[in-house]
Amino acid sequence: MMGDDDFQHQREQLIRDELPQLGIRDEAVLQAMMSVRREDFVDDKNREFAYRNAPLPIGFGQTISQPLIVAYMIEALQLAPHERVLEIGTGSGYAAAVLSRIANEVLTVERHPKLADSARKRLKQLGYDNIRVFQSDGTLGLPEHAPFAAIIVAACGPCVPPPLLQQLDLGGRLVIPVGEKQGSQKLIRVIRRDENEFKHEELGFVHFVPLVGEAGW
Ligand code: SAH
Repeated sequence: MMGDDDFQHQREQLIRDELPQLGIRDEAVLQAMMSVRREDFVDDKNREFAYRNAPLPIGFGQTISQPLIVAYMIEALQLAPHERVLEIGTGSGYAAAVLSRIANEVLTVERHPKLADSARKRLKQLGYDNIRVFQSDGTLGLPEHAPFAAIIVAACGPCVPPPLLQQLDLGGRLVIPVGEKQGSQKLIRVIRRDENEFKHEELGFVHFVPLVGEAGW
């Protein structure tokens, strides 16, 4: 059995040693990740692997993302403490929990009803009270709550869903993997410079589960 102290030690090792060595330098991101217990977001049988820098299964063919990728994507969002974030692909709720320690409020959308329910319960039970979980097709965003200062998508679509671009605030940032279903995928950052001006940047190669929906697969 692994005790809390062991987890604390492993968490420090992953987040204070490994992630900075792999290029994560944003102190706000590292601090937020230090404050979220990843072991609380995985099944009992995977608890002992919670601090491996690897994705882990969460059921229904989905995964909790690799810690390095969570850190890298959140760093790329350049969040300010007063901002509101939209996340597409709640999964376990882990990335939403990390986001909620940096931003003012997190709205997160999961298409799978059972995953949405369990993430909502888990986040409530753990006391994350600035996160709202929605069950719907995240490729459509949440138009009734737009605009958002930042949008993060945890699943890979064939293109950037147009509704998400429209729901970005001016100056807003969108980070999303785009590419093939089971092949080459690139992480993209889009910054909305103006009403009709979007700057696209490529941040590197990644591997994500498919984004399934109207503006996805
Ligand atoms: N951020 C998650 C990782 C989730 S994996 C975590 O920290 O655990 C990607 C998730 O995106 C899966 O749960 C999948 O069901 C969900 N997903 C796929 N397509 C979606 C869509 N169109 N809208 C919302 N969620 C979607």
